[in-house]
Amino acid sequence: MAATFGPKARSTIHEFDLIHALHQRHSRRTSSVIRGIGDDAAVITSRTGQWTVLTTDLLTEGVHFNLRTATMADIGFRAAAANLSDIAAMGGTPQHLLVALAIPRTGTSRHVHQLYRGMMAACHPHEVRLIGGDTSASSGGWFLSLTLIGMVPPRQALFRSGAQIGDGLYVTGTIGDSLAGLRLLNDPPPRASHHPRNATLSTRYRKFLTGRHLRPTARIAEGRWLSAHRFATSAIDISDGLSGDLRHICEESHVGVELDLGALPLSSACRAYAASRNLDPIDLALTGGEDYELLFTVSPRQRSRLEQSAIERGFSLTCIGKIQPLRFGRKALSPLGKRHRLAKTSYEHFT
Ligand code: ADP
Ligand code: MG
Repeated sequence: MAATFGPKARSTIHEFDLIHALHQRHSRRTSSVIRGIGDDAAVITSRTGQWTVLTTDLLTEGVHFNLRTATMADIGFRAAAANLSDIAAMGGTPQHLLVALAIPRTGTSRHVHQLYRGMMAACHPHEVRLIGGDTSASSGGWFLSLTLIGMVPPRQALFRSGAQIGDGLYVTGTIGDSLAGLRLLNDPPPRASHHPRNATLSTRYRKFLTGRHLRPTARIAEGRWLSAHRFATSAIDISDGLSGDLRHICEESHVGVELDLGALPLSSACRAYAASRNLDPIDLALTGGEDYELLFTVSPRQRSRLEQSAIERGFSLTCIGKIQPLRFGRKALSPLGKRHRLAKTSYEHFT
């Protein structure tokens, strides 16, 4: 899980390279492991044939969250939503939660209760039960680790690796809102601000964007629907940013992609925020992580059934591109019809 709230601790370690090295050295194929390191969650099976989905996330104060801009309840909510979203990306149903917590000297039981209130508020709609964890004192800040366990019917899990040439690329909801919300939270308050433009964003938009950042919705129902109807050939949740998460699908599936930037679903609040800061909202959508929307691919013969079914269920989906052969690379078609190479993480870094 990528860090966002505060300044990311400087490190010489590159997260994805490290995970790749750990994967090479320590993970071994066994029949009980359907999917190990390298997806949104692991999938294991038992002799009875059941498939279990497992995911864990660690959140660190000052790296993933900052108590200046979020309440303990918000932090708990987001932590649970991030884990729920990884289960959603596998097409699974979340069931049980384990929580490990390190509490700093300044932490009180009130803080802890607020944290759990937030976590359980995110879990409640999905009937996820807290079944255990661990507690320690911390000589630094807060550390919060969640492990979420769920199930997926055998052979119905969605992986990052199934995208096929010709598949449509889809995303749920709108993207870029969470980054806009984060930036609003980190901006100085309007009165003390040096940004007179702060005032031009309505309170409604401001609330919507900060809410999208602090209280994201995991797309559990959408993930289950995609897997149960076998609509999706691959899926991932948007936690690191569209550009980076799309790269995971392409690398794991050995395919290229053409992303249609003019089709990206942007909320009016995100557009208004971008206009007030002289930013390109497409840039926010490409680089902003933690929207926790689902990004997935659908074969051409399933697309009309998918779109019809989405309308019937009230799910919001947008087709934003097409899977291409590996040699095509990862490209973005600008709203003006120009084709660029899609950078690893940022629109600004087009080459
Ligand atoms: P996400 O952003 O979807 O939570 P991550 O980038 O955190 O995914 O993880 C990608 C994959 O690498 C997952 O399969 C995860 O279980 C695995 N992984 C991450 N960190 C470690 C680690 N320290 N040791 C072993 N596996 C890890
Ligand atoms: Mg994920």
